[in-house]
Amino acid sequence: MGWIKSINISARILFNSLTISPGSKYNFTYSIYNNFEILARMKIHEYQARNLFRKYGIPVPDAVVCHSVDEVEKNVPDDGKLKVVKAQVHAGGRGKAGGVKLARTKAEVVENARQILGMDIKGLTVEKVMVADAVNIEKEFYVGLVNDRNSKSVTLMASAEGGVEIEEVAKVSPEKIIKLSIDPLLGLMDFQARAVALQLFGEIMQALAAAAIIKKLYKLYIDTDASLAEINPLVLTPEKEVCAIDGKMNFDDNALFRQPEILKMRDVSANEQKEIDANEKGLSYIKLDGNIGCMVNGAGLAMTTMDMIKLYGGEPANFLDIGGSSNPKKVVEAMEILLSDKHVTAVMINIFGGITRCDDVARGLIAALGQIKTEVPIVVRLSGTNAKEGLELLKSTGLPTVNTMREAAQKAIELSKKSKA
Ligand code: GDP
Ligand code: MN
Repeated sequence: MGWIKSINISARILFNSLTISPGSKYNFTYSIYNNFEILARMKIHEYQARNLFRKYGIPVPDAVVCHSVDEVEKNVPDDGKLKVVKAQVHAGGRGKAGGVKLARTKAEVVENARQILGMDIKGLTVEKVMVADAVNIEKEFYVGLVNDRNSKSVTLMASAEGGVEIEEVAKVSPEKIIKLSIDPLLGLMDFQARAVALQLFGEIMQALAAAAIIKKLYKLYIDTDASLAEINPLVLTPEKEVCAIDGKMNFDDNALFRQPEILKMRDVSANEQKEIDANEKGLSYIKLDGNIGCMVNGAGLAMTTMDMIKLYGGEPANFLDIGGSSNPKKVVEAMEILLSDKHVTAVMINIFGGITRCDDVARGLIAALGQIKTEVPIVVRLSGTNAKEGLELLKSTGLPTVNTMREAAQKAIELSKKSKA
């Protein structure tokens, strides 16, 4: 599972907040699971999504991509048109983070680019900006496609309340988001696209324009083995034209072998590289935003561990599944990965021995602690095959050991607070 970034606004989150009642105790696992299912997908930048849109006939304003202020000065035409300078990072919510700025003059374009390049947005450094012709906006809409595991089909979501507050809309007034499951054999039918578009646009010509865009987005989605495609906002201009001014797409990793053109667009950040490296070592690692590092065997137990941490008020720093085999070397590698995240202030190790033998994990841990010097407190819970032997071995390390997952989570949170202080 490769290309994951922090969990941002995406059709997936929207979808989750529509399907899960707020406050449900199953909230966390379900949402984390779905998010990383979807986010464990290749992402592309907005400018790349816009190129695909253009290729499929979805109207998008012209744009240039620049890696430096020099390039902006050289490549952006000084044509007196209103421009928008936009950070190109694999994260949503750029507008709110200051990564989207309008510019009336070339000098303003350059100044905005200077500010945005190098900016940090949700832990990602902005290395590219896109300078696009800006449009005047009369109204912002939302259109998204996402794979829905329950209906086993692609789901179209659309709303007349598009723009940067769409997550809030989904939470507060979910009825304002239209959902439609698309039959995989029939595809999205013309009448369906029109029916949805007519609910967004009162005026028939505008609705037809929007319906055509929705159809094209669906074709693009299917053709490219996408797992998410989102236009937010789709805008209506004062001239009554409908166009896309933002685009987001993710693709199914398992289909990349037959999508060479998509694969070429891959742009891997440092964190994603870490996840890929971990993968090559047989570890499933996904970085999250919290501070409790988790090392667990088995995906299900890893989910439960994250839930447990959340339940007691902590935030997991990662998902890390060391897998079923009992190889001390893996434990060393897992510890290295965990501790390389500077946000980690405590580590919770939760092993249920089956094929994995707890004494092997203990040996791996002892080896890891011999190699990596760390001040970060670690709490260990071993249960199952050879737990007794494992715990006996760990006595020499002085690491706190506990019997239950509950205690482990509570202890890790307690230790993380102390180590932060
Ligand atoms: P996001 O915050 O990462 O989703 O970035 P967006 O591209 O969606 O931009 C955020 C917001 O900036 C949009 O919802 C618009 O309100 C505004 N914006 C973006 N492009 C333009 C533009 O060309 N003209 C105007 N007037 N506003 C824009
Ligand atoms: Mn947007």
